[in-house]
Amino acid sequence: MAYLMTHSIVAEGITSCDVLVVGAGPGGGNAALHSARAGLDVILIEDHPAIGTPVHCGECISDVACDNLNLELPPHVISKRVHGIRVIFPDGTAKKLTEEGYVLEKHLFERWIAEEAASEGVQVHLSHKLRSMEKQYDGDQFTGWLCEGNGNQFPIQAKVVIDASGVAGACSRILDLNPRGKVIAGMQYEMLEVPTDDYLDFYIWPQYVDKGYLWMIPKCDGRANVGLVTEDKSRAKKALDEFIEDTEFKNLQQVAPPWKEKGNPAFGGTIPISGPYEFTYDDGLMLVGDAAGFTSPLFEGGSHLALKSATFAAKVASEQISEGDFSAEKMARYQKLWTDEFPPYGKILKGKSALFELSDDDMSLMAQCFPDEMSNMGPHGKLAVCLRILMRRPSLYGKKIIPAMLSFGYSRAKYYGW
Ligand SMILES: Cc1cc2nc3c(=O)[nH]c(=O)nc-3n(C[C@H](O)[C@H](O)[C@H](O)COP(=O)(O)OP(=O)(O)OC[C@H]3O[C@@H](n4cnc5c(N)ncnc54)[C@H](O)[C@@H]3O)c2cc1C
Repeated sequence: MAYLMTHSIVAEGITSCDVLVVGAGPGGGNAALHSARAGLDVILIEDHPAIGTPVHCGECISDVACDNLNLELPPHVISKRVHGIRVIFPDGTAKKLTEEGYVLEKHLFERWIAEEAASEGVQVHLSHKLRSMEKQYDGDQFTGWLCEGNGNQFPIQAKVVIDASGVAGACSRILDLNPRGKVIAGMQYEMLEVPTDDYLDFYIWPQYVDKGYLWMIPKCDGRANVGLVTEDKSRAKKALDEFIEDTEFKNLQQVAPPWKEKGNPAFGGTIPISGPYEFTYDDGLMLVGDAAGFTSPLFEGGSHLALKSATFAAKVASEQISEGDFSAEKMARYQKLWTDEFPPYGKILKGKSALFELSDDDMSLMAQCFPDEMSNMGPHGKLAVCLRILMRRPSLYGKKIIPAMLSFGYSRAKYYGW
């Protein structure tokens, strides 16, 4: 992959730029792209020797997300067109949340964003890992960061750092800015010849995963990601293997995904689930995507939130750099932008917790009361479902069935669910 090498100034062995973006996932790539489009000198660094691999994602993104982000996906990053999510409850009851979207070849998607950024003048440096950073001042005035790490471009001096380092949360760790949040483990296999009607199948089956879910995400040519997220990391592989053994996936072939040359075919990662961090900005610093704890509570989608928070960070970086004041007081605008836009995490989390407190039987009863299509229930529809549930089992009121039920609505794309 060829990247442009332009703009930033090297003086006395120090590379200088307006904005240093740490991590070239969707958040970092988009932050770099939008910062460069705003006329800033940008360096994007990535710890790994290649962008996008290993893939740690189910790879889906909704049309709503693409519209919200003005993303026109090139054909080579798209694996499959899909119609939405089908939630399958413990007794097998299946209900749809129909909204169109895509399953991506996520590594190609991330590379495409980085290439778009490079074509706008961003310097992209692979195998570069941020390890330390120090504030710089002119008298009392904050002037930027001096960053050190592994890679021949260090030290790098930047007016603003955008931390898009994902669940690693590089800047939070280096600066002791936020405590390490709770994470959930995700693991999946690529499987072949998987039957599909082009819905993402999400199984809420506590017998395999207690506070998590399993999925079949269809891709092109009969391929699919079959995986799970679970809070019990040590049991992730065993639980996934058991699920496959007990279901229609049993006799299907597991293969290594095309980007994985050796090792176990399973792939995955961890996802932050503590919600947005308390501090998402500081002097000349903004945290985006997973590095800020932005993931959707029920199904843990994070790409839409990462890509959107990146646009906010780029906007604030460009405006504050042109104003010549990127002190924490000014960077606070970033927190306001995402707080005004993103859905209320605490409220949705309450629903998720209530959902996972239900017994399998309660959950299935709730599902039976949902209409076959859950995406357009509206206030009257929701009320009717509530009444139906409570008439059949009044005790569920005390088990917070209403927030549990509403958590599905908040998993929709318009609430940054995917
Ligand atoms: C199994 C699984 C399935 C998922 N499925 C979906 C899904 O279907 N849809 C969805 O929307 N979301 C999904 N997610 C979540 C989604 O993958 C993340 O929310 C999203 O990738 C976050 O993007 P990001 O740019 O913030 O971070 P990341 O994509 O994690 O990118 C961070 C980058 O920073 C680099 N980095 C880390 N530390 C440093 C450092 N010190 N210096 C330089 N670089 C560094 C990393 O190598 C990485 O490339 C899933 C996650 C998992 C684990």
